[in-house]
Amino acid sequence: MKYYSTKSKNNPVSFAKAALTGLAPDGGLYIPGDIPKLDSTVISSLADMKYIDVAFETIKHWVKEDIPSGVLEEMLISSYPFDAPVVEAAGRYVLELFHGPTAAFKDFGARFMARAFSYLRRGEDKPLTILTATSGDTGGAVADGFFGIEGISVIVLYPKGRISPLQEKQIAGLGNNISALAVEGSFDDCQRLVKQAFQDQDLQKKFNLASANSINVSRLIPQIVYYVAASGRVHKPLFSVPSGNFGNLTAGLYAFKMGAPIHRFIAATNINKTIPDYLETGSYLEQLSKATLSNAMDVGAPSNFERINAHFSWEELKEIVLGMYVSDEETRQTIKEVFSNGYCLDPHSAVGWQAVTKLKHKGVLSNEKSIEKPVIVSTAHPAKFGETLEELGIQVALPASLEKAMQRTAQSKTIKAEFADLKAELC
Ligand SMILES: *Cc1c(COP(=O)(O)O)cnc(C)c1O
Repeated sequence: MKYYSTKSKNNPVSFAKAALTGLAPDGGLYIPGDIPKLDSTVISSLADMKYIDVAFETIKHWVKEDIPSGVLEEMLISSYPFDAPVVEAAGRYVLELFHGPTAAFKDFGARFMARAFSYLRRGEDKPLTILTATSGDTGGAVADGFFGIEGISVIVLYPKGRISPLQEKQIAGLGNNISALAVEGSFDDCQRLVKQAFQDQDLQKKFNLASANSINVSRLIPQIVYYVAASGRVHKPLFSVPSGNFGNLTAGLYAFKMGAPIHRFIAATNINKTIPDYLETGSYLEQLSKATLSNAMDVGAPSNFERINAHFSWEELKEIVLGMYVSDEETRQTIKEVFSNGYCLDPHSAVGWQAVTKLKHKGVLSNEKSIEKPVIVSTAHPAKFGETLEELGIQVALPASLEKAMQRTAQSKTIKAEFADLKAELC
């Protein structure tokens, strides 16, 4: 199994290289040369398989030259002590991806990535330092995923006072190999500082710096698994995927190409609708991102479009992916309505839900559940967005994992949004 840059077919690399470098030297993203197929015996027995076993049968094809079977098995057992259940709610199916330690689907990618990094770097004595900027959610999943992993330390930069108290505790409450820097500035400042650090000769000499952002293939591959597993529970599902950077939907498309029995997908966005527009018009126009209630999806230039575009022409993509966007007003309305029917959605998952409803009204989707089986991909637990829900008069109890995080004390250092400050802090 070889990986190539989206920008050139000339320099194939191994999974190990693609994972540990993140971005190809020419600035492209790594994609597989040939997308592997699931074994037919696996497809026919999906309904009875445990999540870990589906994970093994899916991921083995992508990593087999670099991670031996026995090691992969161990890695999966320690990554996924939780499940990805499909539940029936208010007349639809919901694929709940929030049963991990930080209560969002990013746990699936981050936990596997951490273990893969640790294994692929075995025997190296210089520790690896992961430097990452976060607007809230990613930082928590990365911090938690790498917590206690030997030979790797993590430094998370976040905008001081602009993330929720819960998010801050998830990032800055762990200690050990995880440290947190509260930057007096915006998320963009945090990102700029991280970029500058990667370009700084002194820091590069002193540390082995790596990034853990969502374009890394080792975060994407484990996300294929829950699509494969869910297609064993609901036959020929239509997955509605709340999307921002489109890593999640890209993973779904890989599951489809691997042969999982999936009908098609909805690219569900908030008003940052670059991809729904592309699906409608055929031209890809990046936009400046606008702030919404589903803030983890406020992306105007989705980084994984480059991958999708490398695998599918516009005509091909339109056959498998429907686009739909949802406004904040519609998001609020959906949360209230579905709540009154007995299920609580977070703002991101509500976008996925309402995209289905809007496509039904447009007559694009059949109303018959036996023909069209929408599965809403639920990306976060509603309690992560308690403030938004409270404004709608809905109280949500924290799940045990978040309850535990709330009891931690956030310990971070504050720095100015200046590179000299970051450097002084690191050295
Ligand atoms: C990151 C995130 C998304 C968007 O996922 P992409 O893979 O970037 O499209 C959606 N919902 C939540 C809760 C997230 O944290």
